[in-house]
Amino acid sequence: MAAWSDNIRKVEPYVPGEQPKDTDVIKLNTNENPYGPSQRVKNAIVDIDTLRLYPDPTASALVDVLAEYHGVDPSQVFVGVGSDDVLAMSFLTFFNSDKPILFPDITYSFYDVWAELFSIPYERPALDENFRLVKENYYRENGGIVFPNPNAPTGIYEDIKNVEDIVSHNKDSIVIVDEAYIDFGGESALGLIDKYDNLVVVRTFSKSRSMAGLRIGYAISNPVLIKALNDVKYSYNSYTMNRPSLIMGTESVKDDEYFKETVSKVVATRERFVEAIKPLDFTCLPSSANFVFATHKDIPAKEIFQAAKDAHIYVRYFDKPRIDNYLRISIGTDEEMDKFTEFLTNYIQER
Ligand code: PMP
Repeated sequence: MAAWSDNIRKVEPYVPGEQPKDTDVIKLNTNENPYGPSQRVKNAIVDIDTLRLYPDPTASALVDVLAEYHGVDPSQVFVGVGSDDVLAMSFLTFFNSDKPILFPDITYSFYDVWAELFSIPYERPALDENFRLVKENYYRENGGIVFPNPNAPTGIYEDIKNVEDIVSHNKDSIVIVDEAYIDFGGESALGLIDKYDNLVVVRTFSKSRSMAGLRIGYAISNPVLIKALNDVKYSYNSYTMNRPSLIMGTESVKDDEYFKETVSKVVATRERFVEAIKPLDFTCLPSSANFVFATHKDIPAKEIFQAAKDAHIYVRYFDKPRIDNYLRISIGTDEEMDKFTEFLTNYIQER
């Protein structure tokens, strides 16, 4: 082995869901929104000639529109390249203690990857047998806390009172609430921002705003923590947000009617789908997200996952302790979910 190989950082990377090249598939594996972005986004004019210029490093057009939308000051908003970028930046900025950070044993599988990448010690308190957060597990000494609400990949929403309980018990460390799915159900922790100076709420345009391909995420907190995030960002890459993202992201926020309409369509389809697969002996955890986490009474999830894939229907399977008999199924259009239900019906009958 060459001597330099010792100098290479060795990490076990996050594995994103598959993006099949074949377009003739039903794609229910990465929690994308089946409806396109708003017409306002489609009408947005990106002057290609301006791409010779760097974008606004402060991303002020997008920051301002988000601040107005959420009723906060622009100094309370930080934007990044998808919430993955915002979360990674937050780990780098806020989790610099020798004490372990805490996040649930079953949660977004990027958290431990960032912790490893940045050499942040961590512990993973177990969710209870119903996959619920045990708030008392977060009363111990720690170097920070992060969890999604609703959680992924379970879809379970924790009551805002439990979120507040965790934030208020941890005034000496920063608590990040990852609200990637909050628009599909539940109360946001944004209402607690003014009350607690240790709270950061992270959001994304990838799910409820149908813009996963553009990569926009943001954090809302108090000006002190947002400045800390910006200081780290400017020490790393000043121009994270490209010009088209700034223009199209801004247009998206301005079309609240379309946003609400598509979110409610996804929620209605989710409820319909949960009922449709019940008679097939599937049980879904209670979901407040744009996906369901489903298990079958008899058939192993891994088998169903493979059979669906063979039939060009992509869902997500995690070969991990406690959840290896579940499928995470993103909510598509009614038509897509009907086709998937039909596939499941035939598959179970013929098996
Ligand atoms: N948080 C959670 C809980 C997620 O499931 C995802 C989607 N993979 C993200 C954050 C990141 O989403 P994005 O980077 O597209 O905003």
